[in-house]
Amino acid sequence: MRALVKKEPRSGAIVLEEVPEPADPGPREVIIKVKRVSICGSDVHIYEWNKWAASRIETPRIIGHEFTGEVVKIGSDVRLVKEGDIVVAESHIPCMTCYQCRIGKMHVCRNTKIIGVDTDGAFADYVKLPEVVLWKIDPSIPAEYASVMEPLGNAIHTASVANLSGKSVLITGVGPIGAMAIAVTKASGSAPIIAAEIKPYRIEMAKKIGADYVINPAEQDLVQEVMKITDGNGVDVLLEMSGNPKALVDGMKAVTNGGKVSVLGVYDGNIEFDMNLAVFKALTVYGITGREMFKTWHIATQMLKYKQLDLSSVVTHVLDFEEWEEGMKMMQNGNCGKIVLKVND
Ligand SMILES: [Zn+2]
Ligand SMILES: [Zn+2]
Repeated sequence: MRALVKKEPRSGAIVLEEVPEPADPGPREVIIKVKRVSICGSDVHIYEWNKWAASRIETPRIIGHEFTGEVVKIGSDVRLVKEGDIVVAESHIPCMTCYQCRIGKMHVCRNTKIIGVDTDGAFADYVKLPEVVLWKIDPSIPAEYASVMEPLGNAIHTASVANLSGKSVLITGVGPIGAMAIAVTKASGSAPIIAAEIKPYRIEMAKKIGADYVINPAEQDLVQEVMKITDGNGVDVLLEMSGNPKALVDGMKAVTNGGKVSVLGVYDGNIEFDMNLAVFKALTVYGITGREMFKTWHIATQMLKYKQLDLSSVVTHVLDFEEWEEGMKMMQNGNCGKIVLKVND
């Protein structure tokens, strides 16, 4: 079969090549024929071989974790899916034995293995996975959208900290997940939705998806602008998606007293900020990782099945599998939303 393999521990060194198909599934394993995959920022990090990739990944490794496909073979004890089902997958494989897994918090499992990072991934014709991570979806959901349900789940999970109906929201950072967060908050009835972004392509994307206001913090004062829009109150909820320390601090300043701060952004090393900002404003700050298994997946499925989300301006490019490197390069320059690759029909 074809697979995109990180061959060696250095920058580049990814090759689309023929490799053996996965061996027969174990009792609780499933083989899936991959239809669409989408390129994640972490795939680009593996391509570039940043510090995180170098510390975590052993080569050779088939990469990729955002995908949809069809079940083609199941192990003898598999109960969650059957042959012919269309599935997506949670990228975090829980151990099912640690404290968190046992109390229903699999998404913060202490022994998580990540598909395409710690185990062979989905940038291939076939992928073999434990049934526990699989989620059957309605075949009416377009494959291009199904393949981005994992990052969509990040957006839904980040937005889940508050009842958003009629609430003002600030979303800092409009990468693909920030863009999906705009769609999610819109569908949840938030108003106004204020986005903050500095890159021209992404400012346009934020407007297209339905942000009521887009502030460019490189040219405008974020806090002042938010206060103007909200009659001096500040927003009810901040969704911090950028990983930029200034966005976090200014974002917190722009939240109303007693408001909520939900942080998905990942910061490059230690950051400094005045904790009293949270204390005296009585803010509630949430750290968000992954998706809740499988509550978030259920919500994502319902929202897509009943067309509550228009992802047409988030999934900006659909390329052939062979064009993967072009996709990686587009991701590097940031002039795109989600890039989906067609692996099989
Ligand atoms: Zn991802
Ligand atoms: Zn666990």
